[in-house]
Amino acid sequence: MDKPKVLVIGAGPAGFTAALYAARAAFDVTVLAGPQPGGQLTTTTLVENFPGFPEGILGPELMSNMQKQAEKFGAKIVYESAVGIEMEKRPFVVTSDVTTYTVDAVIVATGASARYLGVPNEMRYVGRGYHTCATCDGFFYRNKNVIVVGGGDSAMEEAHHLAKMAASVLLIHRRDTFRASKIMQDRVLHDPKITVLWNSQIVEFIGEKKVEKVIVQDVNTQEKKELEINGVFVAIGNDPNTAFVKGKLDMLDNGYLIPKERSMSNVPGIFVAGDVEDFTYRQAITAAADGCRAALDCEKWLAQKS
Ligand code: NAP
Repeated sequence: MDKPKVLVIGAGPAGFTAALYAARAAFDVTVLAGPQPGGQLTTTTLVENFPGFPEGILGPELMSNMQKQAEKFGAKIVYESAVGIEMEKRPFVVTSDVTTYTVDAVIVATGASARYLGVPNEMRYVGRGYHTCATCDGFFYRNKNVIVVGGGDSAMEEAHHLAKMAASVLLIHRRDTFRASKIMQDRVLHDPKITVLWNSQIVEFIGEKKVEKVIVQDVNTQEKKELEINGVFVAIGNDPNTAFVKGKLDMLDNGYLIPKERSMSNVPGIFVAGDVEDFTYRQAITAAADGCRAALDCEKWLAQKS
């Protein structure tokens, strides 16, 4: 008898862990790795809080290891993105940007993507002085002056990382307190290269070919000022990558998927794992654990079906 086919959509910690467990359960496993194989951890430097690495491990290295481990047990990784799933009948038919897959079960682990500010014209500056990943693009701002926007752990991490190379970092936050964890806040507040501008928002980007200036507005007084700047790093959170299952899988208003029974979605045979359904913890370790759970639930469901 043919092995049941399991398609994992997404290649972050959740996707690779699901693929590892599903492959070790002797299923025929394919991973659609999408446009950012490795997920958000490929855009970070040292990961210090993934257990088992007392000295920390580089995000891309951790993800490359997870991929190798899944492949070692037979998971096939393809660099395609899912665009839709026919889930009205089984087997499911998943369409990617390249081909279609007919599969017995699906694990959706597509994660979340960086959010933009929503300032008019901002998209024309993306990659031209407007960035969402300091690890990827910070290198270009050695001895330059940069802005980081946000008040969460990501913004603290970006500011701290950039302060190691930039001449100065101005951290702009829309409120008067950070939501970041205490340890991350302390790092930033004690860094002499980082200045915080509270209660403020960027309302305009100015520049011929790239960002040269921004207009910043005080949210209380509405007063505006113009700042000359070399680069802006926006670190204001993420949105789940769920457009391809909209209207089919149950999701919250913010787009995060809702598991119905353990990790199984409202459609039996389709499982969800990682940041695509978790906006509370959003850690590599919790995403990996979710991937494990989804694969085990999937294994049990396939066994009951056969
Ligand atoms: P987050 O915790 O949701 O924080 C987003 C920040 O951006 C908030 O301060 C928010 O302001 C601000 N913001 C949102 N929309 C904005 C807008 N349109 N304009 C200006 N500011 C805006 O997101 P995150 O920092 O990406 O963190 C996500 C999760 O990952 C968290 O659970 C975090 O702990 C975790 N994380 C952990 C680490 C680590 O441990 N090393 C690193 C990164 C992230 P308000 O505060 O006013 O809402």
